[in-house]
Order: sequence, then structure tokens, then C-alpha cells
Amino acid sequence: MSSIVDVIARTAQSFTGQLLQPADAGYDDRRRVHNGLIDKRPAAIACCHNVADVVDAVQLARTLGLDVSVRGGGHNVAGRAAIDRGLMIDLSPMKGIYVDAHGRTARAQGGVLWKELNRATQLHGLATTGGVVGSTGIAGLTLGGGLGWLMPKYGLALDNLRSAEMVLADGTVARASADENPDLFWAIRGGGGNFGIAASLEYTLHPVGPMITGGVVVHPFSRAVDVLRFFRDTCASLPDETMLVAALQTAPDGARVAAVVGSHCGSLEAGEEAFRPLKAFGPPVMDALGPIPYATLNGMIDGAFPKGALNYWKAQFLTDLTDDAIRDIVAGFERCPSPMSAIILEHFHGAASRVPVTATACSMRVTGFNVVIASQWMSPSDTERGIAWARETFASLTPYLAATRYVNYLEDDAPDPAAVAYGSNLPRLREIKAKYDPANLFRQNVNILPK
Ligand SMILES: Cc1cc2nc3c(=O)[nH]c(=O)nc-3n(C[C@H](O)[C@H](O)[C@H](O)COP(=O)(O)OP(=O)(O)OC[C@H]3O[C@@H](n4cnc5c(N)ncnc54)[C@H](O)[C@@H]3O)c2cc1C
Repeated sequence: MSSIVDVIARTAQSFTGQLLQPADAGYDDRRRVHNGLIDKRPAAIACCHNVADVVDAVQLARTLGLDVSVRGGGHNVAGRAAIDRGLMIDLSPMKGIYVDAHGRTARAQGGVLWKELNRATQLHGLATTGGVVGSTGIAGLTLGGGLGWLMPKYGLALDNLRSAEMVLADGTVARASADENPDLFWAIRGGGGNFGIAASLEYTLHPVGPMITGGVVVHPFSRAVDVLRFFRDTCASLPDETMLVAALQTAPDGARVAAVVGSHCGSLEAGEEAFRPLKAFGPPVMDALGPIPYATLNGMIDGAFPKGALNYWKAQFLTDLTDDAIRDIVAGFERCPSPMSAIILEHFHGAASRVPVTATACSMRVTGFNVVIASQWMSPSDTERGIAWARETFASLTPYLAATRYVNYLEDDAPDPAAVAYGSNLPRLREIKAKYDPANLFRQNVNILPK
């Protein structure tokens, strides 16, 4: 039997990226993901430069019998891109982006981040639904769902996926699209990384901006209950161009605040009109909502989520944002131990919620509110408190929680994760998993057991 060193040396002869082992320079940097709480040590890291490298990495794992994790942007809070003792297949060097402005499509490699894709597509006044924090990876976000400012108008990120170049568990390369391997195409749109590695993803683009209307209005925390009620009532009748998110958070000056962040992707005149009531409510202590470049809006909160901060999140959809739920959400934030933490309410409506649950593997086709308890802190000495606050606050909201949970926000220790994340699509996903990954090589995810 060959040693790991021999097999890696053989693979390295053709591999164009880097194959890192624990003693190598750069290994420590590469094994780290966005969430500083994740501290896993792979046996090796395959930093891929192209699809052939990804194939080699899969073969390497199979030869050595190593478990595999796949890293796109490395943003998953549960740390699913990292692995102890296995092979981390790292796509982060894969940054190729090709925009077909005429055909309104873009193909991007699996290591691209949203700020990079937005930058390239916005050169042509085009965009697709993507994450609201620029450093999030396109691959993990899209394969699990992909919510962002454009979703009421254009659907989730995965609704805009036209095709993906997949490296499968047996090391073969396959295209997944409506015409080629349609079962695989159905499964990857919501089934996460369970079915293979997306070396590149092709998206439909839409005319967006470059200037749109968006930003934030901020109110004192003493008015949080009124702000959340106003937010709820406003969300009841939004046009598809508008998306709103509410957040209880701590301002840079240390004051707790209730904020509403909004985006309107239509004309600037329509945006001004749509946000008139939101800007009139209050008065706010800060109103930074108006014309803004689409790319800037998508980087606006990046600074609130620094790489390496320690994170523990819990999130679930609410049945309804009732007055009682609002009271308990505000009370939960009053107990918050860290100025970096927030309780966020994401509103879902429009195109993203009109797609039938069976059209893709994504079962998150609801209208309403997703509550995210984003607990974040810097010092390991605050870890116990940070995790306890998220768990206790989440538990206090139990009476208001619906069944649906967003797969990309699921914590590591979530009970019955596949059932809550995939819902009624789970049985079909298990059949397709048995076809494409019968030995469950790709299991560092919200795992779908092969049928
Ligand atoms: C600060 C912050 C903001 C966020 N904002 C949003 C948001 O606006 N909208 C939203 O929908 N979500 C958001 N998320 C959640 C986000 O969708 C997930 O964290 C997602 O997993 C990130 O994708 P990634 O490629 O960076 O993940 P990674 O951590 O690299 O991977 C996550 C999972 O996807 C798999 N995966 C990654 N790349 C590939 C690939 N190329 N092929 C196959 N499988 C792959 C991994 O194996 C792993 O299981 C946010 C998270 C954070 C921390």
C-alpha cells in the first residue's frame, strides 16, 4: 500500500495547483474558513486551479480512502468546507469569470465570490441574485438556495442557474442542465454539495442598475417593537422589485438599534416612491437609503462579518411575525452579550416564493420571515456565552417557528437536518444520491443518505 506522501507526490506530477500537507507553508492559512470557531486539520489540502485538478483531487481521495470536504467561498458557518483528517478540496483559487453580455449569461468557476461576480457582471449593467455579503462563495450559496436582494424579482440564486460542470464521485465530469442529466440538475438546485463538485456554474443575468435604490434606515432600540411591526405591515404588500430585511444590532457607537435595510431594483423614480413610507416612519436616527450602486449595496454590511470572527447561528422561518413574536425577539436581543451579534429578519416574497416546491430540490418556497440569530464574537473566552445566547434566544421563539429551515444556515448540531432542510423533496434526493454518489463520498454537508 502506497503512503500518503507517495500518492501525493505522484498526483503532484500533473496537478497544476498546490497539494498541501500539515508541515507545508500556507497549510494553516488554507485550512481556515470564514468562521474562526472552526479549527479542523485536514490530512491534505488540494488547492485546485482547474477542473482537471478537481478530478485529480477526487481520485486522490479515493485512492487514499480519505473523506472529502469541498471549499468554495469557505463561508458556511457550520464549517462544512473543512474536515479533520480528510482531504479538503479547495476551489478558492478557481476565479475564472466569463460574461456573455449579449446572451445575458455568466459562467464562473467554483471559487468565485459574490463581490467578484457582481463586479464582472455590473460592467455590463447585469446581475443575478446573489448573497448580500461580498465575501460569500457563489457555489455553496447557489447550490443550497441563494437569497439576496434580487430574489423577489428574479428568484433565488439557484433559480438562475442554467448549468453546472460537475465532477462526480467516480471522478468523471458531467454537465448538469435542463437538457443534460436533468435529474442531477434538479438535485443540485437545493441539494447542496451532495452530488458532486461544481467546477463552474452558469447563470442567467438580468439588467440591474448599476444604480438602484437601497440602503438602511436606523431607529433607536427603544422603538424596536414599533419598527418591527411597521416592517411586518410594510412587507405585506411589497412589489417584486423591493426586498426588506430588519435587524436588531449594535451601532458602531455602541448604541443598540433597530434597522431596516432595503433594496429596490427598478427605476430610481420607482425606488424613491416605493421607499417613501419607510423613510417617513419614525423619525429615524439615520437615513442612508437612496440611490446606490448595486455592487456597493452588496458590500455595505461586509465589515460587520469579518473573517476569523467566531460565529454560531440559528435560523428558521416563522409561521407569522405576530406581536408576541416581536416582543420575544426584542427581549432576546436585550439579553445579547456581544456587540457583534444581531437578530435578523429576512422577508421572502415574489418570484422566489412562486416556484413550485417540486420544480427544484429547494423546498424553501415560502412567503414570510426567516429569523436569523447571528451570534458573533472575537474572543474564545466569550464562546460559551455566545453559543448559549443563540440557543436560548432560539428556544424562546419555539412557539412561532414554522417547519422550514434554510439549509445554508443550518448549524452543525441541528436535529434531523436533512428532513428540515429538504422537506418533501428528500425521498427523491435520496434516489438521485444513490445514482450519483452511492458511497456517499460527498458527505461534509447537510447530508442526504443514498437510498
Ligand atoms: C456573513 C455571511 C453572510 C451570508 N449571507 C448570505 C446571503 O446573503 N444569502 C444566502 O443565501 N446565504 C448567505 N450566507 C450563507 C451562505 O449561503 C452559506 O454560508 C454558503 O454555504 C456559502 O457558500 P460558500 O461557497 O462560501 O461555502 P463553503 O463554506 O465553501 O461551502 C459550503 C457547503 O457547500 C459545499 N460547496 C462549496 N463549494 C462547492 C462546489 N464548488 N461544489 C459543490 N459543493 C460545494 C461545501 O462542500 C459545503 O458543504 C451567509 C453566510 C455568512 C457567514
